[in-house]
Amino acid sequence: MSTKLSSAPARRLADARTPATVALLAAAIIVMPGASAPQLAARAAGAVSPSATPTSAGARSAPSQAVLERQPETRRSGTRIVVDWGDLTPVQGERTAIAGSVPVPRNGGPRWVYLEEWNFEDGVWAYRKDTRSGAGGRFRLAVTLDRVNEPRRFRISVGKGPGVPPLASKAATFTAVWQPAGPVTRTYPGMTVVWPGAKVLVGSAQVVRGTVTARLAKPSVALQREVGGRWTEIARTTATGAGDFALRLPTAYLGTGSYRLSITDGAGGAVETPAERLSIIPDYTPAGRAANYSLVSASPVGRWDPCAPIGYRVNLAKAPSGALPDVRSALAEVAEATGLRFEYRGTTSVVPFAAGDTFDPAVADLVIAWADPAQMRGLFPTGTLGVGGPEFRPTLAVDPSGTPVREIYQGGVTINTAFNKALKPGSGEGLTRVAALMHEIGHAVGLMHVDGDPAQLMSPSVGYGLDRWGAGDLAGLETVGAAGGCLTPGA
Ligand SMILES: [Zn+2]
Repeated sequence: MSTKLSSAPARRLADARTPATVALLAAAIIVMPGASAPQLAARAAGAVSPSATPTSAGARSAPSQAVLERQPETRRSGTRIVVDWGDLTPVQGERTAIAGSVPVPRNGGPRWVYLEEWNFEDGVWAYRKDTRSGAGGRFRLAVTLDRVNEPRRFRISVGKGPGVPPLASKAATFTAVWQPAGPVTRTYPGMTVVWPGAKVLVGSAQVVRGTVTARLAKPSVALQREVGGRWTEIARTTATGAGDFALRLPTAYLGTGSYRLSITDGAGGAVETPAERLSIIPDYTPAGRAANYSLVSASPVGRWDPCAPIGYRVNLAKAPSGALPDVRSALAEVAEATGLRFEYRGTTSVVPFAAGDTFDPAVADLVIAWADPAQMRGLFPTGTLGVGGPEFRPTLAVDPSGTPVREIYQGGVTINTAFNKALKPGSGEGLTRVAALMHEIGHAVGLMHVDGDPAQLMSPSVGYGLDRWGAGDLAGLETVGAAGGCLTPGA
């Protein structure tokens, strides 16, 4: 049986914008977002500098205490930048202050002071922010590092002023650290439990441990999570003779859930603890508001069955080189945010949404392709980056609590080959291929565009900032993800 992937216009989620806009956005991001004329000048002055040799991108070590860095006077008196970098290993998401002074020009006036960041990928210093120097050339800036264990290298520079040359400080490398909330000990009747904390990092090793104090013979202890309105066992063990137990807390995907422990004594008796709320969080601070998402089908919620793997195929006939690793990267981001599992099934010649689309459910659940505008029945007007969307089963399914769900059983993503050059391969800053794929796969797992918050990858124009989900994206992906529970055919 051959089935069209999409028939309703609402499910076709084209991303339109003019090529001029794309070019401007890409340039603005690669160079410096929101830079003004003096900032541009500063970057030009500091674009390539021999004053600091970058460490490799994989460097992880950094001094652990504040450093007062004093530049040797290499030019002449009064031409030095003094920087107190503050804490080089700040806590992720918290502001850290950078203070110091720059040479005062002959006229005694203020100078633009620039914070520049070394771009490990492109090997250049890039503008980050600026301030004006005050009395005595003093300045104060702040940075917030939102990713843990990712070294970031900064320097302070000034442009040429009356009687003073342009100058850059030595560089300093910051590495943000994760500060866990810490374990929480709870005492319940018959049991003491140490929970790993209200927030734990995705992918981290976490254990729920405790001691059964009730007199039970070989008590069996189960860790349960509320999934789709039902308590579901996610781990089980038998306590030691002393009553001690330890259970691994799954942290493979993001989201906030209710957890509890259930103890059975083998004689039919069971005791449950009250629910404990735990959040599995990403290693960065998601931008924007959690309310900023929209679903393709909100009532009933439209989503995949998270309890079966989603087989996918790729059509690489017109894809740029390196496309498959980028597909895998984008799917990994979707999997981490939803708990959905994607399994590679190979290549295909299918082009979702194209003229003569022969998409067949037997081919794969999800197809990701590249195609020319001429193939796309007018779906790729000028400036359209790609198209992605889900197809729903005609009859409703139900979640574990019996709530109706509109089940997605097919999905398609097609990227416009006209953007093969404009999309930067891989991930990182700017308009990247991984960001574009994340956005289109986001449609295929049930997310619609959200307006008015460019920090969300699901805003109509992708390409602002980094290819990471915003707070709204993550809330939406959680809603269509594994936390809703398995689907079964409705009555
Ligand atoms: Zn879109």
